[in-house]
Parts: sequence; C-alpha cells; structure tokens
Amino acid sequence: LASRLQNVFSKLKGKGRLSEEDVNEALREVRLALLEADVNFKVVKDFIAKIREKAVGLDVTKSFTPGMLVIDIVNKELTALMGETQSKLARSNKPPTVIMMVGLQGAGKTTTTGKLAKLLQKQNHRPLLVAGDIYRPAAIKQLQVLGEQIKVPVFTLGDQVSPVAIAKAGLQHAKDNGHDYLIIDTAGRLHIDEELMEELANIRKEVDPDEILLVIDAMTGQDAVNVADNFNKQLELTGVILTKLDGDTRGGAALSVRAVTGCPIKFVATGEKVDALEPFYPDRMASRILGMGDMLSLIEKAQENIDADKAKELELKMRNNEFTFEDFLEQLEQVKKLGPLDQLLDMMPGMNKLKGAKDLKVDDKQMARTVAIVKSMTTQEKRKPEILNASRRKRLALGSGTSVQEVNRLIKQFDDMRKMMKQFSGMMGSGGKGMKGL
Ligand code: GDP
Ligand code: MG
Repeated sequence: LASRLQNVFSKLKGKGRLSEEDVNEALREVRLALLEADVNFKVVKDFIAKIREKAVGLDVTKSFTPGMLVIDIVNKELTALMGETQSKLARSNKPPTVIMMVGLQGAGKTTTTGKLAKLLQKQNHRPLLVAGDIYRPAAIKQLQVLGEQIKVPVFTLGDQVSPVAIAKAGLQHAKDNGHDYLIIDTAGRLHIDEELMEELANIRKEVDPDEILLVIDAMTGQDAVNVADNFNKQLELTGVILTKLDGDTRGGAALSVRAVTGCPIKFVATGEKVDALEPFYPDRMASRILGMGDMLSLIEKAQENIDADKAKELELKMRNNEFTFEDFLEQLEQVKKLGPLDQLLDMMPGMNKLKGAKDLKVDDKQMARTVAIVKSMTTQEKRKPEILNASRRKRLALGSGTSVQEVNRLIKQFDDMRKMMKQFSGMMGSGGKGMKGL
C-alpha cells in the first residue's frame, strides 16, 4: 500500500480544498487497501461512504499534505469503528465469572482457553478450565496438557457424558473449590451446523455465561462475516478473540466482524505459545489493516510540530534558491522535534532508500555539531554562505569546537542539500514534484 499512498499524496498536492473528485480518487485507493486486507466488501462499501461524507470540502491548506489528511480521517474512522477503547473482560459479582469459548474447528478455541487462563492467573485469579469438546479425538488431552503447562486445573468427565452435563458439573466444581473464573472449551465444526448450535445453546442455558467469546481465525478472510453473524444470531456473543495474527494477514476480519456483530474484539492471539495473547487495541489494528505501519504516527507528530505556513515559506525560498543557513537551522530544529533522525527516516515511505545513500549522515550527535557550527556564524554568513572564506571557516571551527574539515563538509553538504531540496521540495508541503521521485 505504501507506494499506492505515495501516489495519492502526490496527486493531492497543492489543492486548497478537497474536491469531490480528489476524495474519490484517494478513497478508491483506500477501498482497494481494505479489500486487500480481506475486509468484507459490504463493510468496505459502507465505510467508504461514511468517509466520503466527512472528507469532501475539508480545508486542506493547514494540513501537512492533503493526501495525509484523507488518510488521517480514514484511520480515525477505522479506529472508531473498531471500538475506540480497549474492551475488558467481564467480571461477575457472583463468582465464578463464566466464560464460554465458541467457534469453528481449528479456530484456536482450546489454545486460547489456555492462554486466557494464564492471563487471568497472572492477575491473581483462580481459573478452572472445563473440557467440553468430547468429539474431536484427543481434545480433552490437549486441554489437560495445556493445563499442566500453566498449572491451571482442568475439569473433565471424559467423552461419554454430554457437554451440557459436563459444563453444569464444572460450574458446581468451580463454586465448591473457590475458582473465580470458569472457562469452558467447546467443540467446533468445520462449518456452521444446526446440531452444534443447539448444543452450544443448551450449554448456554445451563450455565448462563457472563461472556460468550467467539474465537475466529484472522486468516478466514471474507468468510469471517458469515461465521460471526451466524454465531451471534444464535448465541448472542459478548465478544470476539481474533487468532493467528502472527501470520501475514492484515487482519481485515477484525473490521468485518466488529461491523457485522457489533461485538467488541477483546483479545488478539499472535502465536502458538501460551503467552501469545494480548488485549485488542483498535488503533493498532487500524494501522495494520491500512498496511502503513508507523506512517500514521509520523503524520500525527508532523501535524503537531510542523507549521504549515512556515513550511510553505521555506519551500518557496528553496525554489527561488534563497534558502540560507538561518532557514537551515530552523528546519533542523523542526525536524528535531519529531524525534531521532534515523527513526524518522524509517517511518517515511521512500526515505529508507535515501538512508543508505552515501554521505547522508543521520545521527543525532552529528546533528548537534552541525547546529553548533551554524550557530557560530554571523547573521551575514548565514544569509550569504558564499562569503565563507578560509579564515571565516577557521573561526567557525574554533567557535564550535569542531574542525575546519567538518566546517568544509557542512558547507558542501549545505550546497548539495540546496540542490536536492529543490528536487524534493514538494514532499513536506504542498506543490512541487511530490514523493514520486523517491
Ligand atoms: P480449536 O479447534 O478451535 O480448539 O483450535 P486449536 O486451539 O486446537 O488450534 C488449532 C491450531 O491453531 C493449533 O495448531 C494451534 O497451535 C494453532 N493456533 C491457535 N492460535 C494460534 C495463533 O494465534 N497463532 C498461530 N500461529 N497458531 C495458532
Ligand atoms: Mg479445540
């Protein structure tokens, strides 16, 4: 997506207000990005319509770049849609809190049951696991092995008793033994079927769970919507756990499932190991779905720190070749506010290529020395670097505690930079050639 977004950015340069056509163009790319991330097509359609409403006519003169503004809106809406804040696990005031895990076969119910127990145990709770899958061969054993590993007891009545009876007995056992959480692992099927749903509904009736968590495989893609919708209609889910996010899926299922069921995603699983379970953070998932990594945090930082009017002024100077050491200093200060230089370059699409380039120093100590040299210049020298002859350079070296070679190098770099900036001038503001050149 990164290259695609760069194109959007450069296309949207230099506009005062986002026209409908601009927005449509940007949203076409966002739409593709969402579909690529396997978000359900109907969910995508609704989402795009909502964004369009918000974006058309927005004033872009004050923003970092117009393209970024659109992406920023998209990101915020995506985050909002997935739930704004993190959604916590229920806690019954009449312990034990009963949690029922449901989902298709292979989604990760049993594994996640163990992970969740471990998480609760770490918070000083006393969970009990119930082996409610009597159908899959070795399902009980799998849970017992997990239980031993994390030192959490597992309740089982073997595979000859009905899951409803097991759940009921498990609940009684938890009450009798002072467990404050009961997690019931259940059977899954390859596809939704009536028999399974009926059994799950019966367990639900019997133990009246505080949470019914749908465990869903993030790789499920478009199909996630049907699965989630079906389970929700029959069981009234209270939350979702998305598994296998350690794969290369972009996690579009998160958005689809949330949009269709309205149920919060409570946790994400990111590996086979028993501690690979994390709370769900909507903002992180939004970035992942958009496939743009740290770009969004860069946008945020830049919006906070870079003065758009000043950026325009500087750009004009660069284009007219009036860029001075005074401007240079000011720019260095602005960049410094954004964070360590090499991290910054990592975040910018295309810039990581520049990083490897010869002579491009990106270390902060170097930057401090540079600032010291520039600060040793007189106003006249800053404005007219051409007058920096040998004796002036020597004075600068002495004044800044550096060497003449370093001063020479900086002046050379400044000249090179002026040339380069003319080329890349569109990047940080509006107008110019844009990011395509990178
Ligand atoms: P169940 O049929 O729903 O109970 O699924 P299981 O818990 O037995 O898991 C099915 C397979 O998926 C197992 O091989 C697990 O190790 C694997 N698995 C579960 N969660 C994750 C995860 O978050 N990441 C990865 N990579 N594998 C997982
Ligand atoms: Mg299982």
